Amino acid sequence: MLKEEDRKFIINTYNRRADLTLFITKGKGTLVWDENGKEYLDFVGGLAVNALGHASSPVIDAALKQMKKIIHASNLYYSEPQIKLARQLVENSAADRVFFCNSGAEANEAAIKLSRKFGKLQHDADKFEIITALNSFHGRTLATVTATGQEKYQKGFEPLVPGFRYARFNDLDSFKAQLSDATCAIMVEPVQGEGGVYVATQDFLTGLRRLCDENDILLIFDEVQCGMGRTGKLFAYEHYGIQPDIFTLAKALGGGLPIGAMLCNEKAASGFSPGDHASTFGGNPVVCAVAQAVMHEILQEGFLGDVIAKGAFFQEELHLLKKRFPKIISEIRGKGLIVAMELKEKGPAIQSFCQENGLLINCIGEGILRFLPPLNVSREEIVAAVDILQSALQEVFDGE
Ligand SMILES: *Cc1c(COP(=O)(O)O)cnc(C)c1O
Repeated sequence: MLKEEDRKFIINTYNRRADLTLFITKGKGTLVWDENGKEYLDFVGGLAVNALGHASSPVIDAALKQMKKIIHASNLYYSEPQIKLARQLVENSAADRVFFCNSGAEANEAAIKLSRKFGKLQHDADKFEIITALNSFHGRTLATVTATGQEKYQKGFEPLVPGFRYARFNDLDSFKAQLSDATCAIMVEPVQGEGGVYVATQDFLTGLRRLCDENDILLIFDEVQCGMGRTGKLFAYEHYGIQPDIFTLAKALGGGLPIGAMLCNEKAASGFSPGDHASTFGGNPVVCAVAQAVMHEILQEGFLGDVIAKGAFFQEELHLLKKRFPKIISEIRGKGLIVAMELKEKGPAIQSFCQENGLLINCIGEGILRFLPPLNVSREEIVAAVDILQSALQEVFDGE
């Protein structure tokens, strides 16, 4: 059995719960199928990766076309797909320049290195501390897991990387209290994803921007999960009318293929010189060609407006469930199509029931159900998902 071979040959880092194990062998749009041909609505979306859904034609076409030209050369040479993608990103964002890598953690690692270098160059002093938020998630490399303000990800890997301080999310005073002459940057997610879908307040982000300006330090937004149209704007910071000095992307950028990017303004970019940072696969031609196609789709007239409208519709539907189950559901929150429903308990049981009944969702801890459907999910699919969720709530909390 393949499942047993998975347990035998693959290092045991993912908790593949026995009630949830599934081989996904095929996908189209919001739908996926397992090896027995059973159909599921996919509201996990590859954890915010599959922004255009499965088997998206623009993604497939771009990949095949580029594969026939060149799959990999080296960053020693110029690369047309890379340059075009960088231009597209710069022309549609606060950034002036881009560094390409392969994952979210790597993009954040680049942001951390750049901030340290910039701090030292700009101030000719030992400025290296970065303040991040509690309950954040920034990745699994040693530096990014240190930046992640959650002990559960750090335990056992000590000593952690020096130079990180933590403050409470959405609490400006808490960040002010951690600031010192050693601070070179502040890094936050505009919407905390892995932490359970907590949206930054306007005052918090405006305040952080001002704090960074006053102290001449860099503001970094980790948009690995909330960027690329997920919140209904191309980048989540656009909702707030402010601009970061550095922001990072990954997940949805490559339409399912691995890519990460660190984007920054000219000022921050001056921190890096040739030789300071590199990545062998970074900006791979095939992935960059696909990412251009993803950008192109998201920037189509009306696409992002639809994300906002469908996100609002989804949240309304969930609020109706909350009215029906007031003792069970404590909160609905989110922005665009990153949405969470918090339950008092039994999240894993709900998740399991949903899967049995053809709906894939994510569960964080005991009670936070997170939904990350493709951005081109239909209203009918949202209604169908909420129906399954409602049956799950009825079934699991029967009589309570
Ligand atoms: C997923 C995620 C990361 C890490 O990305 P990887 O590609 O898994 O390294 C970093 N930051 C945020 C906000 C994420 O959601």
